[in-house]
Amino acid sequence: MEFQRLRLTGFKSFVEPTDFEIRPGLTGIVGPNGCGKSNLLEALRWVMGATSAKALRAGGMEDVIFAGSGTAERTGRPPRQWAEVALQIGNETRTAPDAYNDQPLIEVSRRITKKAEGTQSTYRINGKEVRAKDVQLLFADGATGANSPALVRQGQVSDLINAKPENRRKFLEEAAGVAGLYTRRHEAELRLKGASQNLERLDDVLGELE
Ligand code: ATP
Repeated sequence: MEFQRLRLTGFKSFVEPTDFEIRPGLTGIVGPNGCGKSNLLEALRWVMGATSAKALRAGGMEDVIFAGSGTAERTGRPPRQWAEVALQIGNETRTAPDAYNDQPLIEVSRRITKKAEGTQSTYRINGKEVRAKDVQLLFADGATGANSPALVRQGQVSDLINAKPENRRKFLEEAAGVAGLYTRRHEAELRLKGASQNLERLDDVLGELE
């Protein structure tokens, strides 16, 4: 799987639809202070299912939506009501997880919309609405994801050097692509627990009938 294109609309400082082509190999983002380098990396984490507002330098998830700039009467822009990030992933090498491996191109998108009662987040894979967990698993199985060591933010190298052993282990697990297995194990354990409880109830009912 290869990230090929990232499109941001109304995400943080990227108010207008903005396309970034991601070429093979190592990609570095350079630019003057405040031009949006970190916002770009955060958009990538966000579309891959990041749920921690803190990790996105936001107070709440709605803070990723363009909040307006300057005064609207002059050159400023009014705030937006929604934001969307779409990531195109090339799968010519057919290395995507089984559920998506028949497609040469996979598009994952996430959209957040302001509502009277808060915000609403929608995820899609190839246009079909899916759960956040489906997106997170797609990337976890592909040995990448919102916490992927392939995305290096400012200060991350020194953080890793100073990290506690258990945190360093998490980092290695993500790189090795086993993070998705933990999520699946947790889901399986929950199902097992539900099944055991049902069996216990069945025993009770049978006991009453005897
Ligand atoms: P530095 O090199 O200083 O770390 P950077 O290039 O990484 O900077 P970012 O931190 O990505 O820059 O972008 C900061 C800019 O994004 C600020 O001007 C900030 O006002 C703007 N910004 C962040 N969130 C929003 C938002 N929700 N709406 C509008 N603008 C936003």
